[in-house]
Amino acid sequence: MPIFEFHCKKCGHQFETITRASEDGSGLECPECGEPKPEKLLSIFSASGTGSPASGGGGCGPSHGGGFS
Ligand SMILES: [Zn+2]
Repeated sequence: MPIFEFHCKKCGHQFETITRASEDGSGLECPECGEPKPEKLLSIFSASGTGSPASGGGGCGPSHGGGFS
């Protein structure tokens, strides 16, 4: 489930929400001031992904099994 980050143009409040249908923020409103249609920011998946080694080795297949006879 994608989590989107929104930014209120009125009060500057920044919040995250899980959206399904209205990803453009047209059905949302700022939880702080109630301003409709907050500005959509980049997904936090691509925004805050610095310094986190996701690949810890071993993708597919057995590692060092040695049973290839
Ligand atoms: Zn606001």
